[in-house]
Amino acid sequence: MAQTVAQPTATTAVVPAKLPLKAIAPWAVFFGVLMMILLYFVGAEQGATSVFSGTDVHEWVHDARHLLGFPCH
Ligand SMILES: [Zn+2]
Repeated sequence: MAQTVAQPTATTAVVPAKLPLKAIAPWAVFFGVLMMILLYFVGAEQGATSVFSGTDVHEWVHDARHLLGFPCH
């Protein structure tokens, strides 16, 4: 006795979800500013442009600085 496999009969169209841009915009701005601050500490926190005295921040982000191609030494 052969078994039959049920085939889907109704076709449903795939509709992509709409992105609520007004809801995303404040988070995008927040993370954009956060990333710019992080980029500052990785790329420019040294010497005359340093916010914190000493080389602690520079040493903590030193590998990231080289990874991103910022001049260092
Ligand atoms: Zn270096």
